Amino acid sequence: MTAKIIDGKSFAEGLRTRIAGHVQRLKSEHGITPGLAVVIVGHDPASEIYVSSKAKQTAEVGMASFKHELPEDTSEADLLELVHRLNNDGQVHGILVQMPVPKQIDPIKVIEAIAPSKDVDCFTPANVGKVQIGLPGPVSCTPLGCLMLLRDQLGSLSGLNAVIIGRSNLVGKPMMQLLLRENCTVTVAHSKTKNLADVVRGADIVIAAVGRPEMIRGDWIKPGATIIDVGINRIPAPERGEGKTRLVGDVAYAEAAAVAAAITPVPGGVGPMTIACLLANTITTASLINGLVPPT
Ligand code: NDP
Repeated sequence: MTAKIIDGKSFAEGLRTRIAGHVQRLKSEHGITPGLAVVIVGHDPASEIYVSSKAKQTAEVGMASFKHELPEDTSEADLLELVHRLNNDGQVHGILVQMPVPKQIDPIKVIEAIAPSKDVDCFTPANVGKVQIGLPGPVSCTPLGCLMLLRDQLGSLSGLNAVIIGRSNLVGKPMMQLLLRENCTVTVAHSKTKNLADVVRGADIVIAAVGRPEMIRGDWIKPGATIIDVGINRIPAPERGEGKTRLVGDVAYAEAAAVAAAITPVPGGVGPMTIACLLANTITTASLINGLVPPT
């Protein structure tokens, strides 16, 4: 078997086109321009790239984009003050503070300062709880992107065995809630899981969110399974020249693709979905803040 490649890049493009349509309707029918504020503190190169693409894609779908770049030595009090200002700014419907923040700032305090109604990352305890009990609101961006790809690939997920490898607050735990909602039977594995290969062999759906290059091998995969590889790992690529690197996922791609029915590549799988889902969450919060039912 050679797996179908799940093309996250083109799915994300389609999603952004649908989002641009929702933006137009909010503008023309309700006079609302959804606005997303992105805050970055310091000069982490990876964070700067993420923030620039978030701002660019926000503007491309017709939303208002507000970018706040603060110096590395910004105090916690100053950052919290900015968050409070954005909480009270009627033009802003989503607030994202790019993590990690410099060490003088407590990230938990920052997250808790964001108004849950504008928490488009779905980091605040209030929104994490809403996802758990199935109330409308923003949903963690990367897991939401994984779910969209799975639904597109499989249709109903009901009754399928899903194994998530990784239990972070960012990916593994919210993924568990979303798949449970879809009536999957969910197993969450982590660094203390025994016989991980055997656990994965029972999975119709594998979600790999570990951060270890190519850890999940082809002979762990049940024939016909669907694999979503969240991992992004940079490894040396001497074949491309001295000092060169390349990106790989947490799954040994070629081995797994020989067994699975479908698999996301790295790059070009889950990655592009994350920012598109951030924009989708901004449509959700802009709708809810204005008393409208968010589009599905
Ligand atoms: P974390 O480091 O927060 O969590 C990693 C998880 O993997 C932990 O639960 C850990 O277990 C588990 N783990 C570590 N080693 C093993 C092992 N040997 N066997 C089984 N489980 C193990 O990572 P994140 O969830 O933030 O990210 C995971 C990966 O996804 C990273 O590569 C990251 O770059 C990528 N990522 C990609 C995104 C995208 O947009 N595509 C977005 C977010 C993340 P324990 O809890 O026991 O320590």
